[in-house]
Amino acid sequence: MTDNLEIVRCPACQKEMKKVFDKEKGIYIDICIDGCGGVFFGKKEYENYDEQHESAEVILEALKDRKYTPVSDDIPRICADCNATMMKNFSSSKMQIKIDACYSCGAKFLDNQELEKIRAEFPTAEARQKDFMENLFTIVGEEFTEQIEENALYDKENKKEFFFNGVCAVIRMLSFGTIKLKKYKRKD
Ligand SMILES: [Zn+2]
Ligand SMILES: [Zn+2]
Repeated sequence: MTDNLEIVRCPACQKEMKKVFDKEKGIYIDICIDGCGGVFFGKKEYENYDEQHESAEVILEALKDRKYTPVSDDIPRICADCNATMMKNFSSSKMQIKIDACYSCGAKFLDNQELEKIRAEFPTAEARQKDFMENLFTIVGEEFTEQIEENALYDKENKKEFFFNGVCAVIRMLSFGTIKLKKYKRKD
């Protein structure tokens, strides 16, 4: 939550963003009021606004009754705080809303109206957390199962190969030994 009062450019449409101060939370939020209507949250700021019980009045008020120019979601967004390329992340395991997240500094960028949609996803923070844990387990569980199966198959193939190579080596050694032995014998 280190607030930089420097004016930043919108990661989506490059317009200068407007700083809006949330007195209650002591946070400056960058909002693209003159462009796409996107909202940029610095590190750990987003977590103060994503749940229904948290007040987002300051942001929603600033965005209200204006027309915004939508921006293509295909162009990668650059973090306004640290210049890293932001990654697309689903806001929750419902996988309906994609937001831009900066893995380098923890900032987040939401397109216009995404904040309202995210806030409406779950009635409580507990419900979001519960859903996240359940679905994370399912997703990770499935991936793990596949990974484990793949690894097992790989091991099996490798063992087969190892065994085959081992047998070949023994045969080579034996035949070499035999040849040597024969030669030796012949010498004798
Ligand atoms: Zn913008
Ligand atoms: Zn960043």
